[in-house]
Amino acid sequence: MTARIDAFLASEAPATPCMIVDLEQVEANFRDMREMAPWAEVYYAVKANPARPVLTTLNKSGCAFDAASLAEIMACLEAGVPASKISYGNTVKKSVDITAAHDLGVDLFAIDSLGEIEKLAVAAPGAKVFCRIVVANDGARWPLTRKFGCAPDEAAPLLRAAKAAGLIPAGLSFHVGSQQTEPERWREGISRCAAIFEQLALDGVALELINLGGGFPVPYRNDDGPGLAEVFAAIGRALSESFGDEVPRVLMEPGRAIVASAGKLRSEVILVTERIYGGRQRWVYLDVGRYGGLAETEGEAIQYQLEFDDMSADMTPSVVAGPTCDSHDVLYEDALYELPVTLKAGDFVTFRNTGAYTSTYASIGFNGFAPLHEHFL
Ligand SMILES: *Cc1c(COP(=O)(O)O)cnc(C)c1O
Repeated sequence: MTARIDAFLASEAPATPCMIVDLEQVEANFRDMREMAPWAEVYYAVKANPARPVLTTLNKSGCAFDAASLAEIMACLEAGVPASKISYGNTVKKSVDITAAHDLGVDLFAIDSLGEIEKLAVAAPGAKVFCRIVVANDGARWPLTRKFGCAPDEAAPLLRAAKAAGLIPAGLSFHVGSQQTEPERWREGISRCAAIFEQLALDGVALELINLGGGFPVPYRNDDGPGLAEVFAAIGRALSESFGDEVPRVLMEPGRAIVASAGKLRSEVILVTERIYGGRQRWVYLDVGRYGGLAETEGEAIQYQLEFDDMSADMTPSVVAGPTCDSHDVLYEDALYELPVTLKAGDFVTFRNTGAYTSTYASIGFNGFAPLHEHFL
């Protein structure tokens, strides 16, 4: 799957740390998803990887886009995406940004509060809105429950208020948390949405869409859970279970599952040594760390698979650390990683499935370390 990246790394020897993204793989991931979930319109979650070549590739393939800020909307427009294929999915937006987005032609907005409806009524009169509800995130490696979404029983009153304020109540959304490994979470969300659809229909408010959010999992070292085919099959069943013959327009906002497997991150070993903290252990220091793009290693939540120059060497337990002076800049200490006994300064360590949530998480120069170099194939 990453043959083109491997060939590039072998022939070009790019400066490290660097990220290489295979755009053909991005496109293939999008196409595969369309095949596995033909009932859904894909709105790629731009934050997962907002690089221009990624946006251009997906736009050419017919993908739509979910943006969380005016800057992400601009990035989409500059990549040639028509405004009609962009949703503004953040439920917390500045009025000036709503106005600017609406003036640019964006017409689909997320809400989860009365305050946001009041802003939209003034800044984007007549726009379509969908209401985000909270659902359980158990099973997600990177939960997203604690900041956005209203209680399910608040959704109907909010959408009625949106209608009264001159907006179009278009539908409902939820997010099961990122890297979600239990398909059951989407089934719960869909069934909650169906109940709210029914409740609003009784009041003469006909919703047109349901947005399943993102969260679709990719393989990491600590997740060989259900594959995407299994997840989408379960969601397809849940849709007909809850909506019968009247399945509404279905949107989904995958980020990770579109780009993660299309990227590899190469780093160089700076030092291999023994340390005494918490018992004598082998420490491997790399030229990339928590502040160089690997933010999702916080709490060791996302455990990337690693590749080494010599995959057949004997392996030994090692702490994996980044290059900065911050002692939080340790990638894996509790999760036991085994690295080659032969590993030494100057060798490469390559992280797999890093196309999502890496490059834009890199600090602009903490401790003098530059952001990741990026290459697009
Ligand atoms: C981050 C995010 C996504 C994408 O989530 P993935 O786990 O990358 O698929 C989708 N929708 C919203 C609202 C998000 O915040």
